[in-house]
Amino acid sequence: AKEMNGNTYRAFSSEQMGPDMKKIRLENDLYRALENNELELFYQPQVRLSKNVVIGVEALVRWNHPLYGKISPSEFIPMAEDTGLITSIGEWILEEACSQAKSWQEQGLCSLRVAVNISAQQFQRECLVETVKEVLARTELAPEFLEIEITENTLLLNTEETVTTMKRLKNIGVRISIDDFGTGYCSLQYLREFPIDTLKIDKVFIDDIKAENSSAPITTTIIALAHSLNLHVIAEGVEMLEQQKFLQANKCDLVQGFLYSKPVQASEIPEFCNK
Ligand code: C2E
Ligand code: CA
Ligand code: CA
Ligand code: CA
Repeated sequence: AKEMNGNTYRAFSSEQMGPDMKKIRLENDLYRALENNELELFYQPQVRLSKNVVIGVEALVRWNHPLYGKISPSEFIPMAEDTGLITSIGEWILEEACSQAKSWQEQGLCSLRVAVNISAQQFQRECLVETVKEVLARTELAPEFLEIEITENTLLLNTEETVTTMKRLKNIGVRISIDDFGTGYCSLQYLREFPIDTLKIDKVFIDDIKAENSSAPITTTIIALAHSLNLHVIAEGVEMLEQQKFLQANKCDLVQGFLYSKPVQASEIPEFCNK
């Protein structure tokens, strides 16, 4: 292709980098992202439907790349896993989120809890539980204000160690939430065996609530399932009032989505609590 367009340099100028070149460049740059302060957490409010109050936030990481601008976590978290950087990046995310939650509490604005995403690989690392303990000690955040979000696919990886890790986290007092519930390949058996606090209904089921042949029966069934197991249930990706009304009518506990707020910088969170 290089010879065909007659310009051997073109493929190497930064603007013209192909997707592979970009990926290689990003992977290299990720090693420096932490020390260069290029990572930033955004926070998305979680709202209790019955009272219309913000009771927590989900921390969502962003990478401000000097050349490419904001890079999505769906793009660079897998790279962090491939390179092993997920350990240091994951610890930074955890500490940043916990110290932010502590700082909101100290400002006396509200006692928000913070949900932190933990990727499958991160969950399998032996050091995770120790890291969580250390971070809570350093930031002095009470453990019940930290919720760990893992996906069903994390539970598939290595059941015995996974149960142990979950139980140890539970013993510390942190909460555990199953993210993207209903999209994994897991048997529902784990719901009885694992110490879970919350099911998070995936956005795909919320998207087409009003469509023909919709996911509405799946959503109502997940809500009923959660409640019958004494679990909390939260819907993600709520964008329209119709969806809120449906979820309210069906007694979903919590909601999160663009209808209430996009993920915002930490400084914008206090105004949500005073409403
Ligand atoms: P997720 O955990 O399922 O997060 C929800 C994603 O949906 C977020 O994208 C959020 O910004 C977006 N979202 C929230 N509400 C709405 C809505 O109403 N409509 C639409 N269209 N989107 C909405 P984001 O921030 O790009 O994160 C993508 C994924 O990257 C996350 O999916 C999560 O799996 C992963 N991720 C994000 N932050 C972290 C992190 O700190 N650590 C780890 N390990 N993974 C993370
Ligand atoms: Ca999540
Ligand atoms: Ca999710
Ligand atoms: Ca999702």
